[in-house]
Amino acid sequence: MAELTAFSDSYAEARKKFLAAARRAGAKLASYQHPAERGPGGEALHLDVSVLGPGDASRVFVVGSGTHGIEGYSGSAAQLAWLRGRPRLPKDTAVVFFHAHNPWGFAHKTRVTEENVDLNRNFIDFSKPLPLNRGYEDLHPLIAIRDWNEETIAGVFAGLDAYREKVGEKAFSDAFNGGQYTRPDGIFYGGTHPQWANDAFRAAVKTHLERARKVAFMDLHTGIGPWCDHIYLCFHPEGSPARGRVRTWWGERAVNLQGVTHKKLATYSGTIIDAFAEMLPGAEVSSVVVEFGTLPRPGMQRAGFAQRWMRFEGPRDPILAAQVRREYEAAFYPADPEWRSAVLEQSKDFIDRGVAGVGSW
Ligand SMILES: [Zn+2]
Repeated sequence: MAELTAFSDSYAEARKKFLAAARRAGAKLASYQHPAERGPGGEALHLDVSVLGPGDASRVFVVGSGTHGIEGYSGSAAQLAWLRGRPRLPKDTAVVFFHAHNPWGFAHKTRVTEENVDLNRNFIDFSKPLPLNRGYEDLHPLIAIRDWNEETIAGVFAGLDAYREKVGEKAFSDAFNGGQYTRPDGIFYGGTHPQWANDAFRAAVKTHLERARKVAFMDLHTGIGPWCDHIYLCFHPEGSPARGRVRTWWGERAVNLQGVTHKKLATYSGTIIDAFAEMLPGAEVSSVVVEFGTLPRPGMQRAGFAQRWMRFEGPRDPILAAQVRREYEAAFYPADPEWRSAVLEQSKDFIDRGVAGVGSW
């Protein structure tokens, strides 16, 4: 079994271990501190960036964690275990790790930001009218339950099934988790302005990647895919060089949705990987999302309802809220050593492949 000390119980612990591992590996570090928010223990919150290899390398492999706060516990463990493995790099190649894209969510153990915003729906152009998700308007009253019990939850699922039956699987996914910009107390809420984490990410990309000409970006998540396995989401169009590279480096499974636990994927608004490519107009960019699988989709949907309920209804019933929290955390950050071990073994392999691929690009 792999060395499980790469995993942490708190953001502060994860950050401390990440910074130490990056220093020991010889990486340069930069930190972007949240000016207003703190973690639950009063700790400062940062997006941290480690740069291993030449700062002016033309080829860069970027691996990010914690776009969805709590999902950063496994992403952070993958990053730090890889740094601890005495990595060697191909020439003119740098490996850049972004640790905790959404440090508030990481520290507070939730997917979203301090404003209940899904950072991975927040990278839209706010100078234009906000996207309208009419389907979510239909679903919101169903999802926004006041009481958490098995009967109301079964009622939500029955309502979702009826809606899916009516509109079809793709329209259902678009409505449910494509992103929405009208309900601040809803799920998959993209916000009405850029989050601090969005601005910090943009600043970090500009600072560390402006000179790069060939850039790959891997964003680490949890929650879609089979237990103890990982899946890839590649959104580059069929036939594009960007997609071809993803296939070459990580294999057919990286582009054919193997293992994805959604019958139809939503068309997502405002994702960080789309924004990433737009931020680097002078570079060739390949991006891919990697998800460590946890629960089947209904379990993750239930976790989504729980996240909303805990934040907006939970304070009325703190004892129940603590129970719901345990269930929520287990859905995004399983404690099972077998699961954690799988994260480390698989991430070592796919990060190594990314480094080799970018190094030979
Ligand atoms: Zn995620």
